[in-house]
This record gives sequence, structure tokens and C-alpha cells, in this order.
Amino acid sequence: MTSNKQPEVNIGLVGHVDHGKTTLVQALSGEWTDQHSEEMKRGISIRLGYADATFRRCPEAEEPEAFTVSEHCEDHDVDTEHLRTVSFVDAPGHETLMATMLSGAAIMDGAVLVISATEPVPQAQTEEHLSALDIIGIDNIVIAQNKVDLVDEERAKQNYEQIQEFVEGTVAEGAPVVPISAGQEANIDLLIEAIEEEIPTPERDPDADARMMVARSFDINRPGTTWEDLMGGVLGGSLVSGELEVDDEIELRPGREVEEGGKTEWQPVTTTVRSLQSGGDFVDTVTPGGLLGVGTGLDPSITKGDALAGQVAGPPGSLPPTRETFTMDVDLLERIVGDDGGEVDEISTGEPLMLTIGTATTVGSVTSARDDECEVALKRPVCAESGAKIAINRRVGARWRLIGVGTLR
Ligand code: GDP
Ligand code: MG
Repeated sequence: MTSNKQPEVNIGLVGHVDHGKTTLVQALSGEWTDQHSEEMKRGISIRLGYADATFRRCPEAEEPEAFTVSEHCEDHDVDTEHLRTVSFVDAPGHETLMATMLSGAAIMDGAVLVISATEPVPQAQTEEHLSALDIIGIDNIVIAQNKVDLVDEERAKQNYEQIQEFVEGTVAEGAPVVPISAGQEANIDLLIEAIEEEIPTPERDPDADARMMVARSFDINRPGTTWEDLMGGVLGGSLVSGELEVDDEIELRPGREVEEGGKTEWQPVTTTVRSLQSGGDFVDTVTPGGLLGVGTGLDPSITKGDALAGQVAGPPGSLPPTRETFTMDVDLLERIVGDDGGEVDEISTGEPLMLTIGTATTVGSVTSARDDECEVALKRPVCAESGAKIAINRRVGARWRLIGVGTLR
């Protein structure tokens, strides 16, 4: 048995506001972990709330009752065995900014869609989040039919059928629907069983270059810290391939906008990994899965206030190019997702679009649009590989709405 508590897989918690995502994360993880560097963890979790949960099994009990998050099995008076540690990424529910949800989706290996049994299906964000999963291509999905403690059997059944109907023809078709009460911690064992079956840890190539998607960046120093005590800038995000070790040299792209001789240019930034935090501990090496904090040698003024969010980090020279313009193949949705959504009109030259690529969100202006491809000039460049998926949002009224998906040429 290993004592490795590093999370090995990222699971998104998605669904309509108030349907119980945060309550479920709490039921699964005990609490929001915040042992060591509180600022660092809090920092990462505010915008992309996350918590690690360790799934365990009671060696003496039958499945599914054997599945638990407790270290001790009261019924059989034995210690439970570690199965794996997973990281839950809790998509922000309130006034769901699709972009934040999508940048979370870029680092999710699977998702739990939480649907409350107390409301008709689908609610607006239930539908929006499901189409985001569809677009990003996340098909390892478990549906948690929550709050079953608040409805009678009849309504629970009706709601269950509505859920089945709703997911028909979507990426969640065939996903297990597990009735639970996150609030009363009922059927959590069944939910863990479903997650263990449906959302496996992805196979990773141990020889691949390290590639980190930066979702947040910050300055953890208190105001007034003297320069001797100043800690380097911190990056928060997820490693999607390879390994990262303390003392590794890393490059960040697009990097920084630098002014030289009256013109500005984006230049990659290089630095050294000074500390690594994963699974609530400081560690020497991290492997993919989970959210991690990377203490760097960067001047914290460079990382302050999410200035490097959306960037990509890896060994110098290994990263995809920085793009200020690109062409993408476009697949538009037929209708705008959500309750007031209308038909999606063609993209036109000159219109602004909000594009989410990996953890980067940037506004681009369309310089040329044809039927199924379009060229954009970005306000802020991105570092992305050809073939990368792009969520395309258009301004409709006061909101950016998801209208389709692009593939980088
Ligand atoms: P989120 O917006 O999806 O993160 O939802 P929350 O986890 O914040 O839950 C919204 C409200 O529903 C809170 O008041 C919770 O206490 C309550 N709630 C969540 N799960 C359950 C449940 O299984 N049963 C009951 N009765 N209430 C629940
Ligand atoms: Mg919540």
C-alpha cells in the first residue's frame, strides 16, 4: 500500500446553482483542505474551488457499502484501505461565467453533474454545463441526483426519468444516475463506486515533457514584507503531462508583454521551481492530477492578481508557439444554450468573440469569417497547440454566451 496521497485525477463538479455541489464536495472530502500555506490554497480555490478527497474501502464489507471516505470502518472495526485520491474542481455556480467553467473543464478528466431532485430538469446551468462538457469532450460522467431526502419516492422517480430523458443524445447518455443526499451523506458509497467505475485515472506517459496549465497566479507576501523575506511568485493550476520537480527550470508562455524601442512584444518568462504543493503537502515531485501550487523565483509583482492565469508552463523550448492571430475550424451550435437562447447566427467579420483555450480566456476580433472557419486577432495572445479545442462565446445582451466550438488549425 502506498502512502501517496497526491491526487491522480481531476473531477469537475458541475450543475445548477444551489443543487448541492459544494455540499457534496464537503461530504466527500471532509473539509476544504488548507493545512500548510493557507494563502496559496485559498488563492487557488477561490476562483476554481477545489478540494481533494481520498476514496477508501473497508476490507471486511461488501461493495458498495465498502466504499467510504472514512479511515476507519465502524461496522467491522478495521482500518480502511486507500483506493485513490481525487481532486474535485467545484465550478462556480453563481452567475456562472461560462469562461470560468470552461477553463476548469480544460483540466477535468471527468465530471459529476449534480442535479437536484427538487426542481424540474433541466435548469439553465444544468444544460449549459452539460453542453460545455460536450464541447470540451469530457465524456466520463456520473450524475448525482441530489437532495432526494427532500422529495417523496414518487417525485424522485419522476425526476429520475426527467434526467434520463434530458441526457439522451448528449455526452452524458448512459451515465449512471445515483440518487444521493449530500446534505445527509446518504448513498455516498454508491456515488464513490460509480466514480471509481466511470472516471478512471487517465494513463500518463511518464516520459512526456511537463506541461502545466496555469489557472491562477498570485503574490503570497503580506503587504510591507521586506525584500529579504519576500517569497517568489506562485502559480496555481494543473499538470497535464510529465513530472515537475523542485529546482526544475520552467518557461511560461505567452510570458510578459515587454516594451522595447517603442514597440511591445510578448516574451516567454523563465524561472526555477522553488517549491511544489500538492494534496495539501509540500512535495519534491508532482505527477499529473490534482491542482498544484508552484512557488517560483519570479518577482511576485509579475504573478500578482492572476496576471499569469491562462499561461502554459513547461521545460524551456518545449512549449507550443505563442499566437496573436490564428485560424480555427468552427462548429456552431444550432441554438444558444440556456432558457432564453435563440438561434445562433453565423460569425461575421469584425465581431468580437470571447475565446477559451485551455485555461486562457481572451477576446479576439474576427478578421475573416467563412462558413466553417474563421480568423481572429487576439487582444492577448495564447500559447496553444494546433488541434486545441476552443470554446467560442458571443456577446448577447449583457452576457457572453457559448455559441460553438473551434479547433485551432
Ligand atoms: P451549490 O450552489 O451547487 O454549490 O449548492 P450548495 O452545496 O451550496 O447547496 C445549496 C443549498 O442546498 C445549501 O443550503 C445546502 O445546505 C442545501 N443542500 C445541499 N445538498 C442537500 C441535500 O442533499 N439535502 C438537503 N436537504 N439540502 C441540501
Ligand atoms: Mg457551490
